[in-house]
Amino acid sequence: MHTLERIDVKGLDQEDLKVFFAKMGEKAFRVKQLVSWIYARGATDFDHMTDISKVLRQKLAERLDISEWEPELVQTSRDGTEKYLFRLEDGQSIEAVRIPMDEGRSTLCISTQVGCAMQCSFCLTGTFGLIRNLSTSEIVHQVTASLTRGPVTNIVMMGMGEPLHNLDNVVKAIHILSNSDGLKFSKRRITLSTSGLVPEMLELGRRVEVNLAVSLNATTDEVRDMLMPVNRRYPLKELMAACRAFPLRPHRRITFEYILIGGVNDSLEDARRLVKLLHGVKGKVNLIPFNEHTGSSFRSPAPAQMDAFQTYLLDRDIVATRRASKGQDISAACGQLKGLSDASTKLLPAS
Ligand code: SAH
Ligand code: SF4
Repeated sequence: MHTLERIDVKGLDQEDLKVFFAKMGEKAFRVKQLVSWIYARGATDFDHMTDISKVLRQKLAERLDISEWEPELVQTSRDGTEKYLFRLEDGQSIEAVRIPMDEGRSTLCISTQVGCAMQCSFCLTGTFGLIRNLSTSEIVHQVTASLTRGPVTNIVMMGMGEPLHNLDNVVKAIHILSNSDGLKFSKRRITLSTSGLVPEMLELGRRVEVNLAVSLNATTDEVRDMLMPVNRRYPLKELMAACRAFPLRPHRRITFEYILIGGVNDSLEDARRLVKLLHGVKGKVNLIPFNEHTGSSFRSPAPAQMDAFQTYLLDRDIVATRRASKGQDISAACGQLKGLSDASTKLLPAS
């Protein structure tokens, strides 16, 4: 007998589900019911969906997969940061990181690709090249699996991969995560970080409302070309023009991530150029000390240099925050995700 391949429900957005139910001859309100069971109540078994008839439950079970992911490994940092390693069906692996914030909030940093094609010279993920895009369901699963282990109030697409290099799947995942019948992440609580793929940035703005973070990391094309090869395609002038054109809701700003690398981009001359670059852009700056990793000759900035850089910006009325580098002891900080479970013997099996 030929059995249909079951579809992972976490890859289907509202529109897909509407079509799915319409094809079954079912009414549109079923979408709301199913979404609410799966995302708001975390159902992993159709039998629990008591307001759906047994016959329909059976039909759905034949076609849809609603199982939940379990991390293969969990590492917990001294500061409470948790790193999850997920094994994918084809044997690849990805990582997500939950970072506890103040007032009971937690930010979940998720991956959008296995590896990354952008080859930034400071980034560990970049050294592996692109292995493949994550599907929509693989992006959503990182969130739902993490939610079974603790709260998630904010989502940042700052794990492995360049989200705008996987635009269709990422946009669909944002729709699913923000569905008001499901996980209800308002789009203000989802941030997408990009290395600066200009056409895709503009396309993103047309397709979905989301917070945008841009990894700037340099103030001259010369240095940015060296740090981020994408700059050769879309140099600073084009990138900043795209940022000015990006649609923002009132009072929202683009976050410019700026990794400070000792002796490379951390001078006060850089700070001065940064102020100039941001002229006329609704933006704020997030300063990130370079996280050192073996294989990279770049170094973290001197703490005094970081203070001076931040003060320079603040004195010129630029909102400039500092990213506390959490999860250092488990290599969970920005740019350290590599998704290879065999790389460390310190990993603890998930409990
Ligand atoms: N590809 C996207 C999102 C993932 S990278 C992007 O580049 O924006 C997420 C962030 O990690 C980026 O801001 C990147 O600049 C930063 N990052 C990468 N390697 C780092 C390192 N070694 N130390 C500190 N930050 C790093
Ligand atoms: Fe890719 Fe972002 Fe790393 Fe650059 S910094 S290689 S774009 S993941």
